[in-house]
Amino acid sequence: MPQTWGTIAWEGVTARVPAEWSLVGVSGDAQKGYLRVDSSESSVLEMRWSTAQGKPPELLAKARELLANLDKSCRKQGTKLTSKIKNEGQAVAFWWKTDRVGEGRLTYCDKCDRVLIAQVIYPCDEDFSDTAQSILRSIRDHRSDGLVGWALYGLEFAVPPSYSLEKHTLMSGYLQLVFRNHAKRLIVERWGLANSLLGDDSLMDWYRKDVLPDIKGFRVEFGETEILGHQALRVFGWAAGIRQAIKTAAYSLTLYTNPKLLTGYAWQCTESNRLYSVRTTHDEGENIAERVRDLIRCHK
Ligand SMILES: [Zn+2]
Ligand SMILES: [Zn+2]
Repeated sequence: MPQTWGTIAWEGVTARVPAEWSLVGVSGDAQKGYLRVDSSESSVLEMRWSTAQGKPPELLAKARELLANLDKSCRKQGTKLTSKIKNEGQAVAFWWKTDRVGEGRLTYCDKCDRVLIAQVIYPCDEDFSDTAQSILRSIRDHRSDGLVGWALYGLEFAVPPSYSLEKHTLMSGYLQLVFRNHAKRLIVERWGLANSLLGDDSLMDWYRKDVLPDIKGFRVEFGETEILGHQALRVFGWAAGIRQAIKTAAYSLTLYTNPKLLTGYAWQCTESNRLYSVRTTHDEGENIAERVRDLIRCHK
Protein backbone atom coordinates (compact mmCIF):
# COMPACT_ATOMS: atom_id res chain seq x y z
CA MET A 1 0.00 0.00 0.00
CA PRO A 2 1.31 3.47 -0.82
CA GLN A 3 2.49 5.62 2.09
CA THR A 4 1.20 8.99 0.98
CA TRP A 5 -2.23 9.75 -0.34
CA GLY A 6 -3.82 12.77 -1.94
CA THR A 7 -7.33 13.98 -2.65
CA ILE A 8 -8.99 14.41 -5.99
CA ALA A 9 -12.38 16.13 -6.13
CA TRP A 10 -14.50 17.45 -8.97
CA GLU A 11 -18.07 18.70 -8.65
CA GLY A 12 -18.05 17.37 -5.11
CA VAL A 13 -17.13 13.82 -6.09
CA THR A 14 -14.09 13.07 -3.96
CA ALA A 15 -11.59 10.21 -3.78
CA ARG A 16 -8.38 9.55 -1.90
CA VAL A 17 -5.72 8.17 -4.23
CA PRO A 18 -1.99 7.44 -3.91
CA ALA A 19 -0.17 10.80 -3.96
CA GLU A 20 1.60 10.14 -7.25
CA TRP A 21 -1.68 9.64 -9.12
CA SER A 22 -2.92 12.61 -11.08
CA LEU A 23 -6.02 13.89 -12.75
CA VAL A 24 -5.87 13.29 -16.50
CA GLY A 25 -9.41 13.92 -17.66
CA VAL A 26 -12.62 15.61 -16.61
CA SER A 27 -15.83 16.36 -18.41
CA GLY A 28 -19.46 17.21 -17.77
CA ASP A 29 -20.96 19.04 -14.80
CA ALA A 30 -22.60 18.34 -11.43
CA GLN A 31 -25.52 16.51 -13.08
CA LYS A 32 -23.53 14.24 -15.34
CA GLY A 33 -19.81 13.97 -15.39
CA TYR A 34 -16.67 11.91 -15.71
CA LEU A 35 -13.30 11.98 -14.05
CA ARG A 36 -10.18 9.94 -14.66
CA VAL A 37 -7.09 9.68 -12.49
CA ASP A 38 -3.98 7.77 -13.60
CA SER A 39 -1.05 6.31 -11.74
CA SER A 40 2.40 6.85 -13.20
CA GLU A 41 2.34 3.21 -14.30
CA SER A 42 -0.82 1.65 -15.65
CA SER A 43 -3.49 1.82 -12.99
CA VAL A 44 -6.53 4.01 -13.42
CA LEU A 45 -9.46 5.31 -11.38
CA GLU A 46 -12.58 6.24 -13.31
CA MET A 47 -15.64 7.86 -11.80
CA ARG A 48 -18.85 8.57 -13.61
CA TRP A 49 -21.88 10.25 -12.09
CA SER A 50 -25.35 11.16 -13.26
CA THR A 51 -28.57 12.38 -11.66
CA ALA A 52 -31.20 9.78 -10.94
CA GLN A 53 -33.91 12.42 -11.44
CA GLY A 54 -35.59 11.55 -8.18
CA LYS A 55 -35.94 7.85 -8.97
CA PRO A 56 -33.72 5.63 -6.81
CA PRO A 57 -31.98 3.52 -9.43
CA GLU A 58 -31.70 -0.26 -9.74
CA LEU A 59 -28.01 -0.48 -8.98
CA LEU A 60 -27.87 -4.22 -9.50
CA ALA A 61 -29.40 -3.92 -12.98
CA LYS A 62 -26.97 -1.12 -13.81
CA ALA A 63 -24.00 -3.24 -12.73
CA ARG A 64 -25.22 -6.16 -14.85
CA GLU A 65 -25.60 -3.84 -17.83
CA LEU A 66 -22.11 -2.43 -17.36
CA LEU A 67 -20.56 -5.90 -17.27
CA ALA A 68 -22.67 -7.10 -20.22
CA ASN A 69 -21.37 -4.18 -22.31
CA LEU A 70 -17.83 -4.93 -21.26
CA ASP A 71 -18.32 -8.58 -22.14
CA LYS A 72 -19.61 -7.62 -25.57
CA SER A 73 -16.56 -5.50 -26.37
CA CYS A 74 -14.25 -8.23 -25.04
CA ARG A 75 -15.87 -10.79 -27.35
CA LYS A 76 -15.35 -8.46 -30.30
CA GLN A 77 -11.67 -8.28 -29.46
CA GLY A 78 -11.51 -12.03 -28.93
CA THR A 79 -10.67 -11.79 -25.21
CA LYS A 80 -12.42 -13.56 -22.38
CA LEU A 81 -14.09 -11.73 -19.50
CA THR A 82 -14.77 -13.17 -16.06
CA SER A 83 -16.82 -11.09 -13.68
CA LYS A 84 -18.60 -11.01 -10.32
CA ILE A 85 -21.29 -8.80 -8.82
CA LYS A 86 -22.02 -8.44 -5.13
CA ASN A 87 -24.97 -6.63 -3.61
CA GLU A 88 -23.77 -4.82 -0.47
CA GLY A 89 -27.05 -3.20 0.47
CA GLN A 90 -26.29 0.50 -0.05
CA ALA A 91 -23.82 -0.28 -2.83
CA VAL A 92 -23.21 -2.84 -5.52
CA ALA A 93 -19.64 -4.04 -5.87
CA PHE A 94 -18.30 -5.59 -9.04
CA TRP A 95 -15.09 -7.21 -10.20
CA TRP A 96 -13.92 -8.23 -13.65
CA LYS A 97 -10.83 -9.65 -15.27
CA THR A 98 -9.49 -9.75 -18.83
CA ASP A 99 -5.86 -8.90 -19.47
CA ARG A 100 -6.51 -6.35 -16.73
CA VAL A 101 -8.54 -6.34 -13.54
CA GLY A 102 -11.34 -3.94 -12.68
CA GLU A 103 -12.80 -3.45 -9.21
CA GLY A 104 -15.68 -1.08 -8.80
CA ARG A 105 -18.71 0.11 -6.92
CA LEU A 106 -22.05 1.61 -7.82
CA THR A 107 -23.67 3.84 -5.25
CA TYR A 108 -26.62 6.16 -5.06
CA CYS A 109 -26.80 9.22 -2.81
CA ASP A 110 -30.33 10.45 -2.19
CA LYS A 111 -29.05 13.78 -0.85
CA CYS A 112 -27.30 14.58 -4.15
CA ASP A 113 -29.67 12.39 -6.19
CA ARG A 114 -26.66 11.05 -8.06
CA VAL A 115 -25.63 7.60 -9.17
CA LEU A 116 -21.89 7.12 -8.99
CA ILE A 117 -19.98 4.39 -10.76
CA ALA A 118 -16.35 4.12 -9.76
CA GLN A 119 -13.78 1.59 -10.83
CA VAL A 120 -10.09 1.01 -10.39
CA ILE A 121 -8.40 -0.80 -13.26
CA TYR A 122 -4.94 -2.34 -12.92
CA PRO A 123 -2.69 -4.91 -14.60
CA CYS A 124 -3.41 -8.60 -13.87
CA ASP A 125 0.05 -9.31 -12.57
CA GLU A 126 -0.11 -6.65 -9.86
CA ASP A 127 -1.19 -7.25 -6.30
CA PHE A 128 -3.26 -4.11 -6.14
CA SER A 129 -6.59 -5.16 -4.68
CA ASP A 130 -6.04 -3.64 -1.20
CA THR A 131 -5.15 -0.26 -2.67
CA ALA A 132 -8.08 -0.43 -5.10
CA GLN A 133 -10.47 -1.17 -2.24
CA SER A 134 -9.04 1.70 -0.15
CA ILE A 135 -9.59 4.08 -3.06
CA LEU A 136 -13.14 2.84 -3.62
CA ARG A 137 -14.01 3.05 0.08
CA SER A 138 -12.69 6.63 0.26
CA ILE A 139 -15.11 7.94 -2.36
CA ARG A 140 -17.64 10.54 -1.23
CA ASP A 141 -20.04 12.56 -3.28
CA HIS A 142 -20.79 15.38 -0.85
CA ARG A 143 -19.21 17.15 2.11
CA SER A 144 -20.80 17.33 5.54
CA ASP A 145 -20.62 21.15 5.63
CA GLY A 146 -22.87 21.61 2.59
CA LEU A 147 -20.10 23.02 0.40
CA VAL A 148 -19.03 21.44 -2.88
CA GLY A 149 -15.48 20.09 -2.79
CA TRP A 150 -12.80 20.57 -5.43
CA ALA A 151 -9.30 19.11 -5.29
CA LEU A 152 -6.73 18.76 -8.03
CA TYR A 153 -2.96 18.66 -8.18
CA GLY A 154 -2.81 19.41 -4.47
CA LEU A 155 -5.11 22.45 -4.68
CA GLU A 156 -8.03 21.72 -2.40
CA PHE A 157 -10.99 23.95 -1.51
CA ALA A 158 -14.78 24.07 -1.55
CA VAL A 159 -17.44 26.45 -2.78
CA PRO A 160 -21.08 27.11 -1.87
CA PRO A 161 -23.47 24.97 -3.97
CA SER A 162 -24.98 28.08 -5.59
CA TYR A 163 -21.69 28.50 -7.47
CA SER A 164 -21.19 26.32 -10.54
CA LEU A 165 -18.05 25.88 -12.56
CA GLU A 166 -18.04 28.14 -15.59
CA LYS A 167 -14.61 27.34 -16.99
CA HIS A 168 -11.29 25.90 -16.00
CA THR A 169 -7.66 25.89 -17.09
CA LEU A 170 -5.52 23.01 -15.88
CA MET A 171 -1.87 23.38 -16.79
CA SER A 172 1.12 22.10 -14.87
CA GLY A 173 2.24 25.63 -13.96
CA TYR A 174 -1.16 27.26 -13.74
CA LEU A 175 -4.61 26.27 -12.48
CA GLN A 176 -7.67 28.42 -12.79
CA LEU A 177 -11.25 27.58 -11.80
CA VAL A 178 -13.95 30.14 -12.50
CA PHE A 179 -17.29 29.71 -10.73
CA ARG A 180 -20.45 31.63 -11.37
CA ASN A 181 -23.57 32.37 -9.37
CA HIS A 182 -25.71 34.43 -11.74
CA ALA A 183 -23.73 37.66 -12.20
CA LYS A 184 -21.35 36.88 -9.32
CA ARG A 185 -17.98 35.25 -9.97
CA LEU A 186 -15.53 33.34 -7.83
CA ILE A 187 -12.07 32.75 -9.26
CA VAL A 188 -9.46 30.49 -7.69
CA GLU A 189 -5.99 30.41 -9.24
CA ARG A 190 -2.63 28.86 -8.50
CA TRP A 191 0.70 29.43 -10.19
CA GLY A 192 3.78 27.24 -9.90
CA LEU A 193 7.40 28.42 -9.89
CA ALA A 194 6.54 31.50 -7.86
CA ASN A 195 10.22 32.48 -7.51
CA SER A 196 10.78 32.87 -11.20
CA LEU A 197 7.36 34.47 -11.80
CA LEU A 198 8.01 37.11 -9.18
CA GLY A 199 11.68 37.66 -9.86
CA ASP A 200 12.54 40.90 -8.10
CA ASP A 201 8.94 42.11 -8.21
CA SER A 202 6.82 42.54 -5.12
CA LEU A 203 3.61 40.57 -4.78
CA MET A 204 1.69 43.71 -5.71
CA ASP A 205 3.80 44.32 -8.85
CA TRP A 206 3.12 40.77 -9.95
CA TYR A 207 -0.60 41.05 -9.19
CA ARG A 208 -0.87 44.24 -11.21
CA LYS A 209 0.83 42.53 -14.14
CA ASP A 210 -0.72 39.03 -14.06
CA VAL A 211 -4.10 39.32 -12.35
CA LEU A 212 -5.35 42.87 -12.59
CA PRO A 213 -5.75 42.84 -16.41
CA ASP A 214 -8.45 40.17 -15.89
CA ILE A 215 -10.35 42.36 -13.44
CA LYS A 216 -12.48 44.49 -15.69
CA GLY A 217 -14.95 47.14 -14.60
CA PHE A 218 -13.63 47.47 -11.04
CA ARG A 219 -11.53 50.15 -9.48
CA VAL A 220 -9.25 48.51 -6.91
CA GLU A 221 -7.27 49.31 -3.80
CA PHE A 222 -4.65 47.13 -2.13
CA GLY A 223 -4.00 46.32 1.47
CA GLU A 224 -1.68 43.96 3.31
CA THR A 225 -2.62 40.94 5.35
CA GLU A 226 -1.26 37.57 6.42
CA ILE A 227 -2.46 34.17 5.20
CA LEU A 228 -1.18 30.93 6.74
CA GLY A 229 1.98 32.69 7.87
CA HIS A 230 2.61 34.28 4.47
CA GLN A 231 2.64 37.95 3.69
CA ALA A 232 -0.42 38.51 1.54
CA LEU A 233 -2.30 41.04 -0.51
CA ARG A 234 -5.87 42.05 0.11
CA VAL A 235 -7.68 43.52 -2.85
CA PHE A 236 -10.81 45.55 -2.50
CA GLY A 237 -12.69 46.82 -5.52
CA TRP A 238 -15.87 48.57 -6.47
CA ALA A 239 -17.70 48.58 -9.78
CA ALA A 240 -16.88 51.55 -11.95
CA GLY A 241 -17.11 52.63 -15.52
CA ILE A 242 -19.61 52.78 -18.30
CA ARG A 243 -19.69 49.02 -18.97
CA GLN A 244 -20.65 48.39 -15.37
CA ALA A 245 -23.41 50.99 -15.60
CA ILE A 246 -24.83 49.21 -18.65
CA LYS A 247 -24.59 45.80 -16.94
CA THR A 248 -26.29 47.15 -13.81
CA ALA A 249 -29.11 48.54 -15.92
CA ALA A 250 -29.48 45.21 -17.73
CA TYR A 251 -29.52 43.24 -14.46
CA SER A 252 -32.08 45.59 -12.94
CA LEU A 253 -34.59 43.94 -15.27
CA THR A 254 -33.87 40.51 -13.73
CA LEU A 255 -34.14 39.02 -10.24
CA TYR A 256 -30.39 39.25 -9.81
CA THR A 257 -28.07 42.17 -9.29
CA ASN A 258 -24.84 43.09 -10.96
CA PRO A 259 -22.31 42.78 -8.10
CA LYS A 260 -20.89 46.08 -7.00
CA LEU A 261 -17.95 44.89 -4.94
CA LEU A 262 -14.86 42.79 -5.38
CA THR A 263 -12.78 41.13 -2.68
CA GLY A 264 -9.59 39.30 -3.44
CA TYR A 265 -6.59 37.75 -1.73
CA ALA A 266 -3.24 36.73 -3.15
CA TRP A 267 -0.23 35.22 -1.48
CA GLN A 268 3.08 33.57 -2.16
CA CYS A 269 3.63 30.26 -0.43
CA THR A 270 7.38 29.96 -0.02
CA GLU A 271 7.18 26.35 1.17
CA SER A 272 5.45 25.15 -2.00
CA ASN A 273 6.89 27.91 -4.26
CA ARG A 274 3.44 28.77 -5.50
CA LEU A 275 1.26 31.82 -5.86
CA TYR A 276 -2.41 31.76 -4.94
CA SER A 277 -5.25 34.08 -5.76
CA VAL A 278 -8.89 33.94 -4.68
CA ARG A 279 -11.31 36.68 -5.66
CA THR A 280 -15.04 37.20 -5.81
CA THR A 281 -17.43 39.80 -7.07
CA HIS A 282 -20.31 40.27 -4.68
CA ASP A 283 -22.77 42.59 -3.03
CA GLU A 284 -22.66 44.04 0.47
CA GLY A 285 -22.73 41.37 3.19
CA GLU A 286 -22.31 38.30 1.01
CA ASN A 287 -18.61 37.96 0.60
CA ILE A 288 -17.35 34.36 0.30
CA ALA A 289 -13.70 35.17 -0.50
CA GLU A 290 -12.49 34.57 3.08
CA ARG A 291 -14.43 31.35 3.46
CA VAL A 292 -12.98 29.85 0.27
CA ARG A 293 -9.50 31.20 0.98
CA ASP A 294 -9.48 29.67 4.47
CA LEU A 295 -10.12 26.19 3.04
CA ILE A 296 -6.93 26.29 0.98
CA ARG A 297 -3.89 24.69 2.61
CA CYS A 298 -1.01 25.91 0.50
CA HIS A 299 1.61 23.89 2.40
CA LYS A 300 1.73 21.01 4.89
ZN1 LIG B 1 -24.32 12.96 -1.85
ZN1 LIG C 1 1.86 28.11 2.29
